[in-house]
Amino acid sequence: MVDRLKGHPWKTASVGDETDSICPRCDDETIHRVVAMKDKKIHLVICRRCNSQHRYRPSLATITKKVPLPSERQAKVLKKVGSVRTSRPQVSLNEWQALKEIAGDKEPLPYDPTVSYREKQIVSHRIFGLGFVRKVIDKSKIEVVFEHEVKILAMSRPRRD
Ligand SMILES: [Zn+2]
Repeated sequence: MVDRLKGHPWKTASVGDETDSICPRCDDETIHRVVAMKDKKIHLVICRRCNSQHRYRPSLATITKKVPLPSERQAKVLKKVGSVRTSRPQVSLNEWQALKEIAGDKEPLPYDPTVSYREKQIVSHRIFGLGFVRKVIDKSKIEVVFEHEVKILAMSRPRRD
């Protein structure tokens, strides 16, 4: 009887048949007797070992076949996101180090928003430290590469008295 039901127990079973199911009380896969069907599927079963009646739970083999593996995929995605996040400042740091080597012993100019800057000039910012003018965006803005980040800074601001 049990052998006949193996494979597609939910399709072929009928009340009174025996089938493998997970028993919550035994916490194990045991032989159960089908007590009720619903929509041609096994609905209620009675555990032959402990005689408890409960809803049918497919055997472990059925469950492991059906369960997808989201955790592995999720881990990969998270890893990817993490590496993207951490690689960002590194790029800036490499560029900063390269620019620092090129600059050599040149003296940095103290950053002052009222002063005009040109590309490749070296500035010293009181918060961000040593920086290199990567790009002059327009007549009032410059893009500066600092050790930990790239900043857009103001320049050529009218000096206030
Ligand atoms: Zn049981």
